[in-house]
Amino acid sequence: MRKCIWCSRSNPQVSFDKRAHTFPKSLGGKNFCENVCDDCNHYFGSPKPLSPSVELVLKEILNISKYLLLTDTSKLPKGKRYKSEFFKIDWKRRKITAKPKYKLRRGFQEKLGRLFRRGIYKVYLEERERIKKDSHQERFNFIREFARYDLSDYPVYIFKPKFGAVLSSDELLLNPEISFAERKEEEEKNFGAHVEFLMGHVFCIPVIRNFENSSLERYQYYLRSTNHPFGVELIPIRKANDIDFTFSFLNNR
Ligand SMILES: [Zn+2]
Repeated sequence: MRKCIWCSRSNPQVSFDKRAHTFPKSLGGKNFCENVCDDCNHYFGSPKPLSPSVELVLKEILNISKYLLLTDTSKLPKGKRYKSEFFKIDWKRRKITAKPKYKLRRGFQEKLGRLFRRGIYKVYLEERERIKKDSHQERFNFIREFARYDLSDYPVYIFKPKFGAVLSSDELLLNPEISFAERKEEEEKNFGAHVEFLMGHVFCIPVIRNFENSSLERYQYYLRSTNHPFGVELIPIRKANDIDFTFSFLNNR
């Protein structure tokens, strides 16, 4: 019997007719999570009054990075470049600015930042259920509250790039996935942090409710003292532009 990882309901209270992409299809997602009901699936893709949907923001921000990296390797024909809803993108100069209609909206970047964090958690929990089938555990309730019900607030971090290079393969760019490799599982266990490579960025996704107070300092110390290959500095994503989604550090080479 299928039971939704977001609302904990099963058939016949809810239906499971539609296939729920873990990563949005528009981002290249090819995987599905069985245990997401149609209501919850619909929720993540639907805009609210004065607010875009969780999925739209996730794909907007990650697609820009993806297309920039793919464009670098000339994998895309010119006419197929990504058209963004929120941003004006100068692909040649790798400059990105909010479109005039959004530019002056108060709190716009903060709003996108929050929706983006919720989107990262949404993808994490659905991919986790697809691969490990244990997302119903109570310890993930904070992810349900934040991602699905827009309650409270939880952080997601991005690693400050350590090298002047972006670690990614075209295969990963075209088919994004969350991976649960052994080494990452170690860090999840020791620090309550899941590290993920997505579209040329390295994200740190807390998987325990009180990560910020209980583990963050210890984790940062560990990163610095081991000169960790992912990076040694975590940047909390508060606003959308805390993410260097055009990889501006590449321009300085
Ligand atoms: Zn549901």
